[in-house]
Amino acid sequence: MTIAVIGAGAAGMMATATLQTLAPTCRIILLEKNALMGRKVQISGGGRCNVTTGFHDIKTVLTRYQRGRKFLSTALYHFPPDQVYDWFEQHGVPLKTEPDGRVFPQSDVGKDVVDLFEHLFQPPSVQLRLRTSVAAIKKTDHFQITLQSGDTILADKLILTTGGQAYRHTGSTGEGYQFAEALGHHITPLAASLNSFIVSNQWIKQLSGVSFVAVGLSVAGHKHYQFTGPIVCTHQGISGPAVFALSSQVAFEDYSARHPLPVLIDFIPTMSNEQLRHELNMAITRNPKQQLRTTLHAWLPKSVVNALVAELELPAEKTNAEVSNVMRQRVLDQLKRCPLAVIGRAAGDEFVTAGGIELSEVNARTMESKLCPGLYFAGEILNIDGYTGGYNLQAAWATGHLAGSSVAAVL
Ligand SMILES: Cc1cc2nc3c(=O)[nH]c(=O)nc-3n(C[C@H](O)[C@H](O)[C@H](O)COP(=O)(O)OP(=O)(O)OC[C@H]3O[C@@H](n4cnc5c(N)ncnc54)[C@H](O)[C@@H]3O)c2cc1C
Repeated sequence: MTIAVIGAGAAGMMATATLQTLAPTCRIILLEKNALMGRKVQISGGGRCNVTTGFHDIKTVLTRYQRGRKFLSTALYHFPPDQVYDWFEQHGVPLKTEPDGRVFPQSDVGKDVVDLFEHLFQPPSVQLRLRTSVAAIKKTDHFQITLQSGDTILADKLILTTGGQAYRHTGSTGEGYQFAEALGHHITPLAASLNSFIVSNQWIKQLSGVSFVAVGLSVAGHKHYQFTGPIVCTHQGISGPAVFALSSQVAFEDYSARHPLPVLIDFIPTMSNEQLRHELNMAITRNPKQQLRTTLHAWLPKSVVNALVAELELPAEKTNAEVSNVMRQRVLDQLKRCPLAVIGRAAGDEFVTAGGIELSEVNARTMESKLCPGLYFAGEILNIDGYTGGYNLQAAWATGHLAGSSVAAVL
């Protein structure tokens, strides 16, 4: 019995490791076009590999997936974050959970995660074939896998884990979609997700490098597009976890310089409008001779206050006593609903692809195709994507583990 796994990313490595344990007598061939396994795994989480999330409640974890939530549920219960955590520790990679819930190797070296699989995959049970690019797949009584070199491999079962098409230089260039189509599957529309925003507002670009622990982001007129979390200003616009989450929500929206996305920033999300109005009025009344910008430093860093006040064209020397009610309202609006015109995504910078294999064509309990028996999918190739914070790798480990277990169960 030969089982082929195509793509040695997170999903493919986990599917292979699971098969190696549960079906040790099978011939398992893992095909990878790169000279190394897991290039994306290594660079995720800023090179530290954000292995999974430290949140354990599956219902809460599922809310972090923008697409594929319902489908993913079985795989997440099958191999949840705490089991993923234990799996890596038992395989020699001690982990730690950071205060924001992200899980990393204690070493902070993403390569340690990939090294573990390198040590694990030994012949004869696993044949790892690096620098081996698959060109086409056909199904007859076997899966006929044609390599770029012209050679053919025959397999009884096939697990397709070629990823999405984000960060293409890592090897994930989207060929898997064509292989799946050739085997009868449909691919949903695809879009970039987990990307930074390019904005037209100059003032925010001048704050490049300034970060905020938590701001509220929303899209004017869309009550479902909103997220509160950290952001950082960049020379092009804004980035950071809250921006990535919002980018995931608006992945399929069109926005450009001609049709900007109207994003609002709430700089003080811990206070309601009324609370902030009250606090601001009190501060102004108590300090009539103080400059307004000095008063505002109670809530925001100096550089940000200066930028916001400049946007309002408020004279620098204005004291609180001289600030009219109309101007107070404008200041409040600037703090709670500061408008930004988002005109684009940072090109090629997105972390994941939204969209993928149509999920109604895949059995969520096994990851097997409903259209092509013996074909299984796992990882980002599926129409599943989550926020940053370990959720995409968690989905890849969980679906990879489920696909490997399901193949082993029918041998
Ligand atoms: C910069 C960056 C940071 C990220 N940070 C995080 C994070 O902090 N937390 C998180 O959870 N997720 C993060 N992600 C997302 C996460 O890394 C991916 O969702 C996950 O790695 C997907 O795993 P996969 O196995 O499905 O696909 P991939 O990791 O993309 O693996 C697919 C593999 O298939 C191979 N392949 C493709 N086509 C062929 C072919 N024709 N023949 C042979 N081999 C082929 C590719 O070379 C690749 O090795 C990040 C992504 C990026 C790009």
